Amino acid sequence: MLFALITTLIIIWIVMWLFYKFMYPKPPTHYYPQEGDVLTPRQCDFCGHDLEEYRGVLESKPQGDGEWFFCNYEHQADFHAGKTYQSPH
Ligand SMILES: [Zn+2]
Repeated sequence: MLFALITTLIIIWIVMWLFYKFMYPKPPTHYYPQEGDVLTPRQCDFCGHDLEEYRGVLESKPQGDGEWFFCNYEHQADFHAGKTYQSPH
């Protein structure tokens, strides 16, 4: 009886472990800074949010004078669409 209980517990543990391994293999490597990533904080040209450069989107200005920086492609698109940032708060 006790043996059956222990066996069941071990099976459950193995299943849980497999489930965990399968569901959460690894955090995406993109999440952590990679070698060569630029960690300089920059300010989004659309919403003004500070973000490390490697997490955002860089775009060269057409005239070649510097570059724009955005949190994500959405802010980049909104910026070029001439929208004004609406704070969610
Ligand atoms: Zn932004």
